[in-house]
Amino acid sequence: MPDTAPSVPGAATTSNPAAALIEPKRATPESPLRDVMGGASRIELKVHEQGFIALVDVMPRLVPEGQTADAAIVQAARVSYGQGTKQVNEDRGLIRYLLRHRHTTPFEMVEFKFHVCMPIFVARQWIRHRTANVNEYSGRYSIVPDRFYIPTLDAVRKQSASNRQGGEQTFQVNDAEDLRTAEEFIRYLGDVEQRYQKYLDLTNKGVSRELARLGLPVNVYTEWYWKCDLHNILRFLSLRMDKHAQLEIRDYAEAMHRLLQPIIPITIEAWRDYEMEGLHLTRLEIEAIRDLKAGGPGLLPTENKREQAEWSEKRARLGL
Ligand SMILES: Cc1cc2nc3c(=O)[nH]c(=O)nc-3n(C[C@H](O)[C@H](O)[C@H](O)COP(=O)(O)OP(=O)(O)OC[C@H]3O[C@@H](n4cnc5c(N)ncnc54)[C@H](O)[C@@H]3O)c2cc1C
Repeated sequence: MPDTAPSVPGAATTSNPAAALIEPKRATPESPLRDVMGGASRIELKVHEQGFIALVDVMPRLVPEGQTADAAIVQAARVSYGQGTKQVNEDRGLIRYLLRHRHTTPFEMVEFKFHVCMPIFVARQWIRHRTANVNEYSGRYSIVPDRFYIPTLDAVRKQSASNRQGGEQTFQVNDAEDLRTAEEFIRYLGDVEQRYQKYLDLTNKGVSRELARLGLPVNVYTEWYWKCDLHNILRFLSLRMDKHAQLEIRDYAEAMHRLLQPIIPITIEAWRDYEMEGLHLTRLEIEAIRDLKAGGPGLLPTENKREQAEWSEKRARLGL
């Protein structure tokens, strides 16, 4: 078939020539618009000594005056639920309903872009959240800057006895033996930091940056731009603000939560109410509650020790 598309640079190309004649329709907003970032080009929070998380963009960036970025969720939901609700308090009810009933796609209509500077061991945990778009600093292209995460002496955590993945209590600096071990750990990190000079020397002698960096530890900082939709950000926050997540990534998640709260206050409130501070019960746990109500000991009908421990925690939260 001959190619009938216009050859003028920049001209519209379409298989329907009539469509090319139709002017795009521009709608004027019903009320003035406001910037959800208040005109800022970035809003940054420091995390630890050397790190930060900065909000650099939001979709929607402009919303009708008097509203928040939550409006985009309601706007998308109305495609399925019709024009029934209009008032802000009705919008709040709709968002809370959507979140409670896991009608998640309207939350994907809101997006946030962050610039984050974090140690590599935090980045390794963060990158597991696969639904984000990421562009990271290249240690092949540029010299890795001289920034290392080193906890303060009083924040060195001991291996948890109950949780093999976690560190809980800190070494007590007023206990001589604890202090010695904590100091030894900080010195160990300091020694590793000395290797940075060697890294620079070797790159100066011509070793490629992509190989020289192999000797750098995982507490060295990296940076990336990270863009994600709100549905998946809420999932990230649920997992990484949880007490089971490592403290260092939790600090970033807390900072992210602080940045988001004023921009999507209705969603954040609903997420705290229904997810973050809510409680999921398994069938076995429901059976145990029924047993308690019937005057029994409320034991979980399983031999699994971990499940029993989780049930004890939930019982305590429920005051049972
Ligand atoms: C406390 C804690 C401890 C952890 N320990 C370990 C560990 O020891 N080892 C380890 O390897 N990881 C560990 N992880 C990482 C964990 O297993 C998840 O990879 C991480 O939390 C991201 O969760 P996600 O996959 O739900 O998120 P995302 O990757 O953001 O995905 C969100 C959702 O999208 C869907 N999705 C995304 N990609 C796919 C796909 N390819 N196919 C189908 N569905 C998809 C899924 O429904 C998923 O839940 C840990 C996480 C936490 C919070």
